[in-house]
Amino acid sequence: MVLKIVEILRFWLAFFTARIVTRILKLLGRNATQLPGKLAIKIFPNFLQKIAKPTHIIAVTGTNGKTTTANILTSTLKNLNIPVINNSLGSNMAEGIATLFLQNVTLIGQKTKAQWAILETDERSAHFVLPAIKPEFLLITNILRDTPRRNAHVEYIASFIAKYVPKNTKIIKCYDDPVAMTIAPNNSSYTFSILPQPDESQKETLLNDCYYCLTCGNKLNYTFRRYDHIGVYSCTGCATPKPPNLLLTSTNPQNNNLIIHNDTDTKEFKRLGSNIADSYNLLACVATLNYAGFTLVDIAHALSKVELPPSRFNEKQWGEYRVVQRLCKTLSPLATSLAFDSMNNESPETEICAIIIPDYLKNNPQESQFWMYDTDFEYLLNPRIKQIILAFSHAEDFLVRCAFAGISLDKITIIPNSENVVKNINWNEINTVYLFNDIFSQAESQRVLNDIQLHIEKENHD
Ligand SMILES: [Zn+2]
Repeated sequence: MVLKIVEILRFWLAFFTARIVTRILKLLGRNATQLPGKLAIKIFPNFLQKIAKPTHIIAVTGTNGKTTTANILTSTLKNLNIPVINNSLGSNMAEGIATLFLQNVTLIGQKTKAQWAILETDERSAHFVLPAIKPEFLLITNILRDTPRRNAHVEYIASFIAKYVPKNTKIIKCYDDPVAMTIAPNNSSYTFSILPQPDESQKETLLNDCYYCLTCGNKLNYTFRRYDHIGVYSCTGCATPKPPNLLLTSTNPQNNNLIIHNDTDTKEFKRLGSNIADSYNLLACVATLNYAGFTLVDIAHALSKVELPPSRFNEKQWGEYRVVQRLCKTLSPLATSLAFDSMNNESPETEICAIIIPDYLKNNPQESQFWMYDTDFEYLLNPRIKQIILAFSHAEDFLVRCAFAGISLDKITIIPNSENVVKNINWNEINTVYLFNDIFSQAESQRVLNDIQLHIEKENHD
């Protein structure tokens, strides 16, 4: 009894302290997206569990696509005239989610305002967040390998999430991902899949994080591998799973719309983005909302009004040169391989200079180099790539990897930083420049882009 009273008092102390701090932060013109929740959890660790929450919570987790799918889901629900909250402004960890719930309750915390919440949830916070919020739905976009220190092992991440999924939570997962499919097999679930498309070829790739079935240990048989372990597979040791609940079969050649089927209906959906990862994000959202009770017709109508924010892809045409700037998430073999592969669909007349300026050791000088040997540097063997400029302080590591890939070292220029990149471009040999940076070298990339623009404008003027 005494313990119960102490618990209630601690909750209210946490609640009102967080409320007062929110008010003070707002008066100071500061963001109140993290600190109030952090303080509340500090005062009362079960705060997230006890605070009043919306009836329908959709948690979104996975390696890639969390933010995009959470944003699409929120916009679609808004277009369906459903009041919804999400944690897009705060963090995707417990503190950000606690702050969001605090803002969604009435003054004394008894009632919630919005009855729907879309919560991007960091997969490494699953142990704290999932048991506390008990989401009605959990969307798992995919489980892929990420940076070495954060997530070098997909089986570990999958088992970590699986351990903390509440038993009544309904799971939406990617049928084409043999790792995600093993999570919470006894929970109710809804799956989505993309059939191999007519224009889609199976690529040679080094990366496969799931050779063996995580359920029975037998070797998986892939008949189509899209990237990493995502594709069409079967297991000799397990029973054939039931077909996916939602299937993207093809594209309408007239308008490029995606044709999506569930058990009873077929509907066309406007594309959001052009690549296959964009299609998976859209399909994941349709699957989640369909599972939550919305019809394909209503979802398609609401989704048709959603726009994606500008991508991490920037393309310019300056005079006779085309310049493409794109994010290349180093330390992630898949993201870097996909970035390199983006050059392989160019027309035969394109002659490319690839400038690579990552700075992944800037904040983590002790980071391992092994990720490079799972990355498809072989995609840089493309004969249209006439020159590769490595412009960063530890470029020799990349040079060794390029040599292992069989790339002619005559093509490669190493310079210690991004300052003199423009002078080193063989402008007479190329008509396209690809500029790859990671999140730590965005400023350098922008400077190189500005230098390139100035150089081209000057050349045209002369
Ligand atoms: Zn199996």
